[in-house]
Amino acid sequence: MTDLNERPRRSGFPFGLDAVMRRPPLRTWNLTVVGRAQVTPRMLRVSFAAPALAVEPWRPGQDLVLSMPQTDGSMARRHYTIRDIDPATGEVDVDFVLHGDSPAGRWARAAERSFAIEAQGPRGRTTLAADVEHHLFLGDETCIPAIFAMAESMPVGASATALIEITNPDEAQTLSTRADVQIEWLSREGAAPGPKSLLLDRLQALNPSPASTHAYVIGETSNVRAQRHYLLAHGFDKARITAEGYWRPGRVGGHDHV
Ligand SMILES: Cc1cc2nc3c(=O)[nH]c(=O)nc-3n(C[C@H](O)[C@H](O)[C@H](O)COP(=O)(O)OP(=O)(O)OC[C@H]3O[C@@H](n4cnc5c(N)ncnc54)[C@H](O)[C@@H]3O)c2cc1C
Repeated sequence: MTDLNERPRRSGFPFGLDAVMRRPPLRTWNLTVVGRAQVTPRMLRVSFAAPALAVEPWRPGQDLVLSMPQTDGSMARRHYTIRDIDPATGEVDVDFVLHGDSPAGRWARAAERSFAIEAQGPRGRTTLAADVEHHLFLGDETCIPAIFAMAESMPVGASATALIEITNPDEAQTLSTRADVQIEWLSREGAAPGPKSLLLDRLQALNPSPASTHAYVIGETSNVRAQRHYLLAHGFDKARITAEGYWRPGRVGGHDHV
């Protein structure tokens, strides 16, 4: 697991940590809440005024590390995807999955106009790969902001399949894109999110072509690991898989390299 600051590490570690050491430090931005909207019963959008961040280059799929003050005086630092940035209005949207009584969810539910927080980023390698015939997005509800941001940025003629695990059909959203994107919503029928084979089973039945596809495997870490292993065994080159663990039962914040 990496720490939330992506701080430099000792050299000689595997998994490209030397590259992490060479990365410039993440920039810090001031965000002010300007709105809140319920996207689905379990997804809450918070809109921020962030004029300086809104004109910075970013890539759809990237995230911010939000520092959300808690009522007990502590600070919850959590990764959240940039759902959208509008340079014209200077606004940034972030979508929060309401998965229970947790620090990020508590902050988002209570967020009022003029609440100010800090954010670091944009960060992350989960962005669209170039020169790919077909994109395959795999994830749970925490990945909808990344999958939708990437899919919306795809040009006419590009094609993608998205398999997205959700609690129930009420959590499905409508995508607006110029590209040809087929979304399959896989309902847990009310079951709790976490380690399970729902998405892996559908992936195996889909039998994706390793020759022409780039796979984005994100979401709960053990599910991501199992799906990535399947894709590798199925003939996918490592370079054709982007994988990141977004959360894991019992883990507080952070992310997992998979
Ligand atoms: C790169 C990246 C981008 C992300 N983008 C988004 C995003 O756009 N929207 C979004 O909602 N999340 C996103 N996440 C996931 C989010 O950062 C985590 O879910 C985070 O743990 C939420 O913080 P919390 O304060 O709610 O819970 P925490 O305090 O971190 O955890 C408390 C408990 O809740 C459990 N938990 C955490 N998340 C979930 C969940 N989703 N479902 C069920 N149990 C959970 C933990 O395992 C722990 O037991 C992203 C993660 C990464 C790494």
